[in-house]
Amino acid sequence: MTDPSTAGAVLTVDQSAIADNYRQLARRVAPAECAAVVKADAYGLGAALVAPALAAAGARTFFVATLDEALALAPLLPGVRIAVLNGLPAGAEDAAVAAGLAPVLNTLADLERWAGLGRRLGRPLPAFVQIDTGMSRLGLEPAERERLAAEPGRLDGVTLLAWLSHLACADEAGHPLTRQQSDRFRAALGPLPPAPASLANSPGIFRGRHLHLDLCRPGSALYGVNPTPETDNPMRPVVRLDGVVLQVRRVDRFESVGYGSTYKILRPSRIATIAVGYADGLLRSLSPRGSVWIAGRAAPLAGRVSMDLMTVDVTDLPEGAVAPGSRAELIGPNRPVDAVARDAGTIGYEILTSLGTRFARQAGPVAAAPDALARAASR
Ligand SMILES: *Cc1c(COP(=O)(O)O)cnc(C)c1O
Repeated sequence: MTDPSTAGAVLTVDQSAIADNYRQLARRVAPAECAAVVKADAYGLGAALVAPALAAAGARTFFVATLDEALALAPLLPGVRIAVLNGLPAGAEDAAVAAGLAPVLNTLADLERWAGLGRRLGRPLPAFVQIDTGMSRLGLEPAERERLAAEPGRLDGVTLLAWLSHLACADEAGHPLTRQQSDRFRAALGPLPPAPASLANSPGIFRGRHLHLDLCRPGSALYGVNPTPETDNPMRPVVRLDGVVLQVRRVDRFESVGYGSTYKILRPSRIATIAVGYADGLLRSLSPRGSVWIAGRAAPLAGRVSMDLMTVDVTDLPEGAVAPGSRAELIGPNRPVDAVARDAGTIGYEILTSLGTRFARQAGPVAAAPDALARAASR
């Protein structure tokens, strides 16, 4: 674990903000159950830190993407349900049974493998079954679910926790595909054996109660990504990334900054170099639009983000406001993850899941400055 007092950057994850976000979503969807999606190491924030906080806030069902994620999570979360969205690779059934996992079954062949094992063991095994309603990605196709409706005995050997489908466009308010998917899902469930149903991801939760059904599956909103991009973010910020300034240098007119010489210096300038780069997940595509929050105001990136460094134009800040050891907020309350994403031409999900491994990571409130960096800055 990198020492916060010597690291080039500190990533702070606010467990109580995550718990608040969970409780807000759970209230919104009640009486439906609110699960928690913690795939990709809880969207890059660290499942070991995040998942117990969610369990303490009341989450009882957790979704991950892969078997390995599920096996890593299971010992941390006794007594909760862990579901594997990508299903089980062939040969992984015994490990999944031993850990009590619930795979998401995405084809009739998946169902046959899992249900067959349940019949052989003489006890039904827990599972979700996914139905494709418009993603064309995973889940039973129309012909498969017609077959299943005609031969419901195929489910013998399985405890069906829920029928599941996934929304393609819920982040766009009023997108017609959301209503179509909801209609298709209900129509598909009609002839199938009755079981709970689950459709909504984070933005889906905000697009109407008819999408809540029995179980909602938020991920990104728990981590502070705006589930309603057309309006203010109802979620609390959860992540803060502070980078340390290594140098502040004067750069004369007609010099340039960084690879490709893209940032031309047209006036005598001060450039601050920060110990964070694209290898840490601050995407190269942040230049030329990105900025950081430093000494109480925004300062624009100067030139391209490099692998381990980024440069910021602090000419308009008061002389001496930024010095070696100063901290710059790269993501946080003043640089929301959605704003960073917009500047990089991507979505908050990708910013979070790109966060690197060279930071010191700590749990704590994101609104206040992390102690470690304040100490580092005062040295
Ligand atoms: C990732 C994922 C979710 C969570 O989506 P968010 O938009 O992050 O809330 C829910 N369901 C499925 C099937 C997913 O793949």
